[in-house]
Amino acid sequence: MSPNTDFRDATRVKAQLAAITPVAERVAARLGRPLQIMEVCGGHTHAIFRFGLHQLLPESIEFIHGPGCPVCVLPVDAVDQAVSLARQQNVILASFGDPLRVPGSRGSLLQAKAEGAEVKVLYSPYDALALANANPHKQVVFFAIGFDTTMPGTACSLLAADRAGIGNLRFICHHIRLMPTLTGLLEAGEVQLDGFIGPGHVSMVIGRRVYAPIAHHYHKPLVIAGFEPVDFLQALYQLVQQLDQGRCEIENAYARVVADAGNPAALKAMKQAFESGIDGHWRGLGRVLGSGVRIRTQYQHLDATELLATLEPVRAADEPVWCNGVLTGRIKPHQCPLFRRQCTPEHPVGALMVSSEGACAAYHQYRPEEVGSEQ
Ligand code: SF4
Repeated sequence: MSPNTDFRDATRVKAQLAAITPVAERVAARLGRPLQIMEVCGGHTHAIFRFGLHQLLPESIEFIHGPGCPVCVLPVDAVDQAVSLARQQNVILASFGDPLRVPGSRGSLLQAKAEGAEVKVLYSPYDALALANANPHKQVVFFAIGFDTTMPGTACSLLAADRAGIGNLRFICHHIRLMPTLTGLLEAGEVQLDGFIGPGHVSMVIGRRVYAPIAHHYHKPLVIAGFEPVDFLQALYQLVQQLDQGRCEIENAYARVVADAGNPAALKAMKQAFESGIDGHWRGLGRVLGSGVRIRTQYQHLDATELLATLEPVRAADEPVWCNGVLTGRIKPHQCPLFRRQCTPEHPVGALMVSSEGACAAYHQYRPEEVGSEQ
């Protein structure tokens, strides 16, 4: 199948919608309210709006947008530290493109770059090795962010830098694990959820089986989905069927990419490079038990934590409270009074308006009729 044709085939999409609708309506009638389904990943939020699925699906299905956008959860103080580091003499701050526009309390990395800081956009953490080799008299720091999806790339690059004995490369790691984030959300119990559409990219790394506690302990079904309309609707169909039949299982509707046990090589590299189970503090989510990682002590020479300790201390800035509501599914983006008023992609107040996976960016791009209510 070609992703741009068969997985977007209108006939198949119509058949899937015809299959989903009566099942969803039956379950919603039994519950006396719409089904509350969380699509964990911001990539799915964008797919729903980009392909107009929200207009085609029945009102008996309500999507609750989940926290799975790594740029959106990047803490303000992490951005501030990266900006401070980038402004140091002889430092090259390397990063993926998305975090550059995330506002911190001292501006963004992009602003620091405009003011003369050496900030480089890389497509892969591996490129940081070449950058370090090409600039032996400078300290290169890679600003590593992301869920389990990007963690293997950082891990492999860090291990490769260690093997190659590169002395002028370090990593700042703000990686976040998905499973502790989901269980933290369920433990908080602030949002009524009937089931999850599981993220395809993260699951490619961590696999299907790892989600078992979501079904067994929290009694929520989850179906892993791809990002094309046919993929997404197949997962949604399986999910509403589970709800209709009173089943609660972890299913995989993206088996061409996701294996039950995940990617063993990626998981091995992550385990080798990082210590897991570290409590993390994330923008919008607050403290999430066991969601963070840190570089293992044997690779301390590649850890930028020491460099950060030499900088002027960063005072944690206030984050817009609305971002927290959107990230935890308690409000929709247009229910934030700043939406499309003070907060736009050109002048973002919160990270959800910046990231290509942010829910606010999706609403801004695909729902031009929505404007935040005046305060
Ligand atoms: S519109 Fe801006 S301030 Fe409001 S929730 Fe979205 S990103 Fe945060």
